Amino acid sequence: SQTTTQPRTLHVPADLPDRIQHYIDGAFVDSVDGDTFDVLDPVSNEVYVQAAAGKKADIDRAVVAARNAFQHGPWPRMLPRERSRILHRIADIVESRDARLAELESFDSGLPITQALGQARRAAENFRFFADLIVAQADDTFKVPGRQINYVNRKPIGVAGLITPWNTPFMLESWKLGPALATGNTVVLKPAEFTPLSASLWAGIFEEAGLPKGVFNLVNGLGEDAGDALVKHPDVPLISFTGESRTGQIIFGNAAPFLKGLSMELGGKSPAIVFADADLEAAVDATIFGVFSLNGERCTAGSRILVQREIYDEFVERYAAQAKRVVVGYPHDGDTEVGALVHPEHFDKVMSYIEIGKSEARLVAGGGRPDAFPTGNFVEPTVFVDVPSDARIFQEEIFGPVVAITPFDTEEEALVLANGVRYGLAAYLWTNDLKRAHNFAQAIEAGMVWLNSNNVRDLRTPFGGVKASGLGHEGGYRSIDFYTDQQAVHITL
Ligand code: NAD
Repeated sequence: SQTTTQPRTLHVPADLPDRIQHYIDGAFVDSVDGDTFDVLDPVSNEVYVQAAAGKKADIDRAVVAARNAFQHGPWPRMLPRERSRILHRIADIVESRDARLAELESFDSGLPITQALGQARRAAENFRFFADLIVAQADDTFKVPGRQINYVNRKPIGVAGLITPWNTPFMLESWKLGPALATGNTVVLKPAEFTPLSASLWAGIFEEAGLPKGVFNLVNGLGEDAGDALVKHPDVPLISFTGESRTGQIIFGNAAPFLKGLSMELGGKSPAIVFADADLEAAVDATIFGVFSLNGERCTAGSRILVQREIYDEFVERYAAQAKRVVVGYPHDGDTEVGALVHPEHFDKVMSYIEIGKSEARLVAGGGRPDAFPTGNFVEPTVFVDVPSDARIFQEEIFGPVVAITPFDTEEEALVLANGVRYGLAAYLWTNDLKRAHNFAQAIEAGMVWLNSNNVRDLRTPFGGVKASGLGHEGGYRSIDFYTDQQAVHITL
């Protein structure tokens, strides 16, 4: 049976806001039409606050403010070092409030508090990283001796539209806000409607750090209203989107008539491939963490595990035993490893996949709601084995604490299985054969590969997926490239 913490009462943070508003041109405002939507906490599933439901009129106001700040304000014209100083201040403030940010994020999203704390620190680190990078930025110069000098003039583009998902919301917002602001753009952020709480904190943090008015604008609301209006706004030349592949397709279509710059970080169904010669204990630990951390609501989750036949039975036995020891609990409890899924709609989706899985494969751990939690969006860490490659639980992104394990015999077969889905975000490879590790990494269709490693990412490395997992790369200089124009200047000598 599943390990759970003793149910305690729902932790409600002190001083929750009494409503969540937009933030436009340096002021908190309601929607033009006064409309709001309900925000629930994932443990009680009760409405704890109303958030402003932005529509086209609100996006229009935000874009006017951002455009004005771009055309007439100091931000794009400041020296990189001056912008860098403000970004470092933002990082300092986030760091100094990491516990409070984690408390609010955990309450709003259901993430375990210890993991939400790590994400808050990562958000600070994102700002610090881009604050440093922009000061160190060097651009190319090309010389044709005696004839020509060519150099690159790097310029911010304008108003960047940032659309973000509900998983690790604060951290993923920082991942776009950091480079968009560092390069001198102004922004309109449309955060996910399931989790608007932490996004509303940016405004105060930015004001305190001295970010000029109109540079950061926030419009809450539903994707099909506020998100849609942002994508279709003619004065927003860039859209950076993170979310589902299906939403990415819609945004692609809607942005096409405007020929916008697009960065797409989309869904995944990433494989972890464990060869018979791997360090079994390390592989089990890492693949447990890979799919059950962050409640399994993680784009790079290793949600398919392919295991070589010689060690398959032993792996399955150890894995199932360890999955049963993963602690499901209230998000606020320090020993919780899997908290509550973000929203009842998402809970229903994950539970329906578990039911599908029961007809497609063999269940060896979990399989439903833990007995200790009769309400709230709690799901047991669930392990299916002998999963055929045409099963829906092998092919489709579940985005919860559910894993599919499948045996293979040869390296060739492992590669076919690994690549046999529409996604290509991450891959994890466990083998002690050096040659095989590098050759397999080369052949696998994934934007990122981890060899004998947990998902630990250096901020300088490119981040992005192939196939249905995305288009373009962010991370390090790739983010700087996305948020800037690179004008070539040619001089005849
Ligand atoms: P989602 O696509 O439902 O929503 C993402 C955002 O898009 C939300 O802010 C939403 O309001 C907005 N949106 C929805 N419809 C829109 C439309 N028509 N026009 C404009 N905006 C619209 O995704 P989600 O459920 O919030 O997030 C989970 C998904 O995100 C998973 O598929 C996950 O893999 C993916 N994800 C990917 C990465 C990555 O870096 N590749 C990172 C995190 C999450």
